[in-house]
Amino acid sequence: MQTVRVATFDRPGARPQIRTVPRPRVPDKAALIQIGVCGVCGTDLHILQGHWPTPLPWPLTLGHELAGVIVEKGPALEADFMGQPLTVGCKVMLPPLMPCGTCYYCVHYPTHANRCLNPTYYGRYLPFEKPPHLWGGWAEMVYIDLDLLPATKVYRLPDRMSLRLGSLAEPLTACVRALNRAVAVGGFRAGSTVVIQGSGPIGVLALAAAREMGAGRVIVVGAPEQPRLALCRQFGADATVSLETHTTPQARIDAVRQVVGRFGADVVVECSGHPSAGPEGIEMLRDGGTYVEMGQFTDAGPIATNWHRFCVKDIIVVGSWAFTANDIPVAIDLLDRACTRYPWPQMQTCFPFTEAGVHEAIHSALALRCVKATIVLNEGIG
Ligand SMILES: [Zn+2]
Repeated sequence: MQTVRVATFDRPGARPQIRTVPRPRVPDKAALIQIGVCGVCGTDLHILQGHWPTPLPWPLTLGHELAGVIVEKGPALEADFMGQPLTVGCKVMLPPLMPCGTCYYCVHYPTHANRCLNPTYYGRYLPFEKPPHLWGGWAEMVYIDLDLLPATKVYRLPDRMSLRLGSLAEPLTACVRALNRAVAVGGFRAGSTVVIQGSGPIGVLALAAAREMGAGRVIVVGAPEQPRLALCRQFGADATVSLETHTTPQARIDAVRQVVGRFGADVVVECSGHPSAGPEGIEMLRDGGTYVEMGQFTDAGPIATNWHRFCVKDIIVVGSWAFTANDIPVAIDLLDRACTRYPWPQMQTCFPFTEAGVHEAIHSALALRCVKATIVLNEGIG
């Protein structure tokens, strides 16, 4: 194969064009990967619908759920990211976003290297300055060069794994991480009841991940029945709730709660990307449950509120309502320990226990004339 066929898009909304580029020379730390299979991701669809918030180097070659075989390799490219040997004939995948390893986030917040300040997207612009580039998986080959882009990460796939299965590794990774985020806050345990909002590819993979990670019952809310909800049941969903038959948020919330019991689910994972899924999903949770937002993963529209920023910023949002009996001694101890370190009495404006005093205490508080209105009944007793 002396030329490589590459699908490119001239602009959002354009039809794909198969272009031909010369097969590049492969230097010392580079490789050519013949692509076997590459998925279509929601990100690709956003880009092609013109939702991407920042300029992109059109014409573009898309496709990042790729699995292929190394067909040519420089001698210095010896191992994958995990140290497994790489040879011609190895099956590999590449993730779409590869952290630089050296920026502030990569160095100081390695578990958030997904928010790398200087990430590499495949062999960005390689090997050609002008498009089409050999860097998207909707092409016969992808070219990587670790001398030019050292952050490039290659992962070897097991020899026995089909490339078709291997192309699911990247989106499944996102689902496993999302559930591990719930594990990290103590929200997901063996036997936890999980609701998955969304029955697209991420919903199905999140369902499989939840089951493999020890979930109890798993319920999927989505549509349409064919092919999506039927497939979810084949993947082991204990129940599915259809948006086609349950057309209001309350109907879906009631249906989920009917399945999971009166208190609601332990974990809800949002995989639909629908802007109104969040408030609805919260009502499917039991009090004290954990909500994981992974569907609203982009600043690309359509955007109703800034709810999607929970996902984009990879943050933990924690609700806190009042306290438990075991929290109170901690506060008593704190007050005792710190009694001289803060001017506690200065936050208290005292009022006598008379009708006028109580009335004035209430109105001082309402009018923000004091910080903590405090009614003193008999300070003499202690
Ligand atoms: Zn970085």
